[in-house]
This record gives sequence, C-alpha cells and structure tokens, in this order.
Amino acid sequence: MDEKTRKERARRILDQEVSARAGRRGGYREQALRLLPWVCGSCGRDFEGSNLAELTVHHKDHDHTNNPPDGSNWELLCHWCHDNEHSRDAVADASAPAGPRRARRDDLQSPFAGLDRLLATDTDDSDS
Ligand SMILES: [Zn+2]
Ligand SMILES: [Zn+2]
Repeated sequence: MDEKTRKERARRILDQEVSARAGRRGGYREQALRLLPWVCGSCGRDFEGSNLAELTVHHKDHDHTNNPPDGSNWELLCHWCHDNEHSRDAVADASAPAGPRRARRDDLQSPFAGLDRLLATDTDDSDS
C-alpha cells in the first residue's frame, strides 16, 4: 500500500482509539457496575436492577478524573452512604484547620508589610 493509504489508515485507527477512550471515560459508572458487586461498600445493602439508580460510584481519592480501568479508585456506595462520606469530609474541612487557616492568612499579610518597609528603604536610599 502507498504512503497516503497507510497514513489514512493509521489516522482512522487513532480516531477510533481516541473516541473509544472518551467513551470509556464518560461511562465509568457502567464500568464500575460491571466490575464491582452491586453492594453498598459502607452499609452493605444489596442492589438490583430496580433500585440500581441509588447505587453511586465514589472515587476513593475524590478525583473524578482518576478512573483506572481496574476499578481501584472506585467504591460503590448507596446514595445515603455516599452523602455521608462526603459530608464527613466537609465537616472535617470546616472544623479542623481553623488554626492553621488563620495562620496562613497572617502569612499572606506579612509579605506586604515587609514589602512596604523594603519600598520605603529603597525610596530613602534614592533620595539621599
Ligand atoms: Zn449504603
Ligand atoms: Zn464520592
């Protein structure tokens, strides 16, 4: 086959691969349901076709773009346990870092105070 045909064929294969990958990425719930038993990983409730909509895919590292095909980042959780899982994180976020967060805000302010002093010094130098 000539060069042109070979390139076109390669591009077509690449296109198919790209769209297949996009499809896989979009359907991680379907993948997870194929891969994992239909049981809530938290409360152990069983699911079947009729109430399967209540079973959701939780990302263990909370990164929805991290979807390894072996399912290692997925956990099937029912609606309620999934809500719990995330509200627990929200509570932890809101309560724990009150101290560190305030300290970080101070850190943000201090460089400006230092900058003022630096600028003042520079002005003094150029004036003298
Ligand atoms: Zn549950
Ligand atoms: Zn989740």
